[in-house]
Amino acid sequence: MSNSFEGKHVVISYDDKICTHAGECVRGLPQVFDPKRSPWIQPGEISYEAAEQVIRRCPSGALKVRHV
Ligand code: SF4
Repeated sequence: MSNSFEGKHVVISYDDKICTHAGECVRGLPQVFDPKRSPWIQPGEISYEAAEQVIRRCPSGALKVRHV
């Protein structure tokens, strides 16, 4: 299932059926991706460029980012 999480500048969508739990997102942007939190994705004030740099490394394609 795909869920969307809206921040000030970006909307990040996540598909849990595709995620392979490689953890690139958590390592790259721990302030946005934190599995111990609910919801575990909180874009906050992250910029599109910063989010895109990490999401581009997601090996599964489970994450997508767009401007608000
Ligand atoms: S980087 Fe992508 S595949 Fe890895 S845990 Fe995050 S969403 Fe899942």
